[in-house]
Amino acid sequence: MLYIELAEVYRKLESTTKRLEKTDILAELFSSVERDLLPVVTLLMLGRVFPIWSEEELGVGIKLLMRAISTVVGVSVDEIEDAMREEGDIGLASEKLFSKKTQTTFFSQPLTVEFVYDKLRSLAFVTGERAQSRKIGILVEVLSQAKPLEARYITRTVLEELRVGVAEGIIRDAISRASGADPALVERAHMLTNDLGMVAAVAMEEGNPGLEKLNLEPGRPVKPMLAQLAESIESAIEDLGRAFCETKYDGIRVQIHRKGDEISIFTRRLENITAAVPDILEGVERALPDEDYIVEGEIIVTIEGRPASFQYILQRVRRKYDIERLRRKVPLSLFLFDVLYYERPLIDEPLRERRRVLESIISEIPGEIEASRMVDVGPDNVDEALWLFRESIREGHEGIMIKDTESPYIPGIRGKKMLKFKAEPETLDLIVVGGTYGRGKRAHLIGSYLLAARDDDTGELVTVAHVATGLDDETLQELSERMENLAIERKGRKLSVRPEIILEVAYSEIVRSPEYESGYSLRFPVVKRIRDDLSPEDIDTVSRIESMFRA
Ligand code: ATP
Repeated sequence: MLYIELAEVYRKLESTTKRLEKTDILAELFSSVERDLLPVVTLLMLGRVFPIWSEEELGVGIKLLMRAISTVVGVSVDEIEDAMREEGDIGLASEKLFSKKTQTTFFSQPLTVEFVYDKLRSLAFVTGERAQSRKIGILVEVLSQAKPLEARYITRTVLEELRVGVAEGIIRDAISRASGADPALVERAHMLTNDLGMVAAVAMEEGNPGLEKLNLEPGRPVKPMLAQLAESIESAIEDLGRAFCETKYDGIRVQIHRKGDEISIFTRRLENITAAVPDILEGVERALPDEDYIVEGEIIVTIEGRPASFQYILQRVRRKYDIERLRRKVPLSLFLFDVLYYERPLIDEPLRERRRVLESIISEIPGEIEASRMVDVGPDNVDEALWLFRESIREGHEGIMIKDTESPYIPGIRGKKMLKFKAEPETLDLIVVGGTYGRGKRAHLIGSYLLAARDDDTGELVTVAHVATGLDDETLQELSERMENLAIERKGRKLSVRPEIILEVAYSEIVRSPEYESGYSLRFPVVKRIRDDLSPEDIDTVSRIESMFRA
């Protein structure tokens, strides 16, 4: 398949914001692509070269890409930076520069999707001496044969910012449209495998029966089951009949997979963080059997016997160097609360059975790896749940989880089978779309952040509030730098940025407000923390804000 055909599809997708139109465009593409190429095309439509959970990374930053572009089009890096400022994006800037390029390569051949994909993939495996210049070499090889429109999308793919407004949900709709498969089965297959390329290929070739056969597999992360807020502990237990109540640890959720001798640790957004947490890796090797498994738990930092702030954890899991030193300074503990696979898939088993299996396979290492603290509660002993809540809060945890003992594990769904009850009022996870620099001594820091939620109907981001307080200077400095790297447009003290940074925000009240696109606003918003463990797909929606407003 020619890459220009793919570029035309990207352009069509980019030119509409309507979900249905995007679905049609993608369905047509999926119907026409050769089967062998379907997994690759699906990944590329998501703007990725590797699945999110893969350990592989392209490792190409904007500077390196600019040097490659500079070689191909024969202009200086400064001129490329100017073009980027004007166009607000590397893709459009490249397209413009490529259209001005006079010399064409002598033996220029049309680019194929296979060629572009293989070359981009190969970037991840360039290491060692002269890695940078070898990467530039690969980029030059691809880009020197690219037409302007192709350059727009190749450069964006390299930086993993495709910006054609295609999220996983639209791809799923397009797969069922193109194959005629049941949308619910497509969704289930996706939640279990997180490999939309494979789901697309199976749906097109084998339809519903093929999708039904797909199951989870150690080594490939599963979308986590999520919790709803309980109104009260008593009412939650009454609704569920019987419940496991567990301490709600405030850290990051991890899914740990063992396949053969390989252990992989994934975050909730399915990123592979194995290399950053060698202590957890060694711990699970000792605490769990040498069989294939998938278990789930929460990693927290404990300092002087008390759970430490969430930001410590981010420090640990984001770190790429100096891990051994940090490991001593910021020790981690893991509390396991579920098992999804052991000898066979267990997600269709009731929680009671999964918990039994979990307890039977874990050899606890106190303070390092334990099963979550749990009490089995029914109508007769609700007081034990209340006791657990008070005890958990006293120890510095967030609250408790209240789980239906008879429920299967339902990947990717925020349902009523798992509830949470916290001491502190509910917060919102919102994404930063802009910011304003401070004045005077703080003129170099972005002091105020414009936040957006997702409109459930259109999938677009809509603004909700400005937040200016809650962050210390060190964090403000770090955030300001990140914002500058994400900047799309600058006007006076104001900045618009690509939506990537997610903030968890507390507030006193939700109010109606014509000032923001969502129609709502927050009174006295305060940043609780930066949520690098969430992806833009996980942020709160306008309908959630609406229902919280009504409540
Ligand atoms: P929150 O911001 O309240 O943590 P969230 O959006 O991160 O919510 P939810 O699914 O709403 O995620 O809340 C459940 C989260 O609580 C889980 O994702 C997990 O990270 C964490 N957690 C802590 N302890 C437990 C436990 N014992 N069982 C299940 N989840 C737990």
